[in-house]
Amino acid sequence: MRPARALIDLAALRHNYLLARARHGGRALAVVKANAYGHGAARCAHALAGLADGFAVAFLEEALELRAAGIRQPILLLEGPFAPGELAEVHGHGLWIVVHHDEQIRMIETATLAGPLTVWLKINSGMNRAGFVPEAVEGAWRRLNDSGKVAGITLMTHFARADEPHVIATAEQIDRFDTATRHLPGARSLANSGGVLGWPAAHRDWARPGILLYGADPMPGEDNGLQPVMSLESAVIGVREIETGEPLGYGARFIADRPTRVGLVAMGYADGYPRVVPDGTPVAVDGLRTRLIGRVSMDMLTVDLTDLPAAGSGSRVELWGRNIPVNRIAEAAGTIAYELLCNVKRVPFEYRD
Ligand SMILES: *Cc1c(COP(=O)(O)O)cnc(C)c1O
Repeated sequence: MRPARALIDLAALRHNYLLARARHGGRALAVVKANAYGHGAARCAHALAGLADGFAVAFLEEALELRAAGIRQPILLLEGPFAPGELAEVHGHGLWIVVHHDEQIRMIETATLAGPLTVWLKINSGMNRAGFVPEAVEGAWRRLNDSGKVAGITLMTHFARADEPHVIATAEQIDRFDTATRHLPGARSLANSGGVLGWPAAHRDWARPGILLYGADPMPGEDNGLQPVMSLESAVIGVREIETGEPLGYGARFIADRPTRVGLVAMGYADGYPRVVPDGTPVAVDGLRTRLIGRVSMDMLTVDLTDLPAAGSGSRVELWGRNIPVNRIAEAAGTIAYELLCNVKRVPFEYRD
């Protein structure tokens, strides 16, 4: 069997959830949208089920998958309903919905429901992506309240730049949120991962941590005590020596600058390892750091074993995990850890409790 796999450490996931809730205070929805950022939504939700106050996903079908897997906690749909027909299922499965635009209020007003809905009213405090502008918040709240179909309204907003601790934008968003909601009752929820770790003023009734649960710090370089959850691993499946001046791999991007011992690794961009990373990107072989050399291909990549004489066929390779932070690979790829984690595919997933 091909040795490539993604190892998922569920104890690390629980550690990160508890760390987030302790840092924030109050309650925390574990954000498990996009298949738990690529980690497996049902498995991750089950691992957290005894701890988490609730879960958040992007849309109805993601929540139904968790209900079908036996998850009983509250689940919030972060994008809310897309069509009126979804509301009966939302109610039937005890789901909570974000309401972020007028059309969704109209859906609720005109729906015939067996009972009331739990709504999180989203305020646009400056990100300008989704949510009601401050001037429209009280009107939206009143319409929901007057509809007779809503049991509770939590007030929420989302930050554009919470992962930038020295930028004033988040403080401004907090102020705008507080001003827009000052006459309204109900619980508040402001903090995503960056807000939990970096913005105590955003700590209210509910946190919504996502990326930090998976152990990727949204502020790379800080040590907040998070534990990486995914380890993307494989093994050396072949070794060859090339001479100084010889090319390696597609496009001959790498030319040996010394006699080089090349390890061939069963991992490629079809598994979700990013093709764009340059020569020199770190990789761990038997726990020791070395460098990727040559272009990443679909099923394989190549690493430099010249300085690791003990390494050879069968040596364990970590692409990211405990030795190589996924944030480091994201930086090499010009993207963020979120995207890399969501993109892992084809490899078997193994879960450790
Ligand atoms: C995805 C999402 C989160 C989680 O964000 P992280 O940066 O991963 O912590 C929180 N709130 C909303 C509304 C989201 O869409």
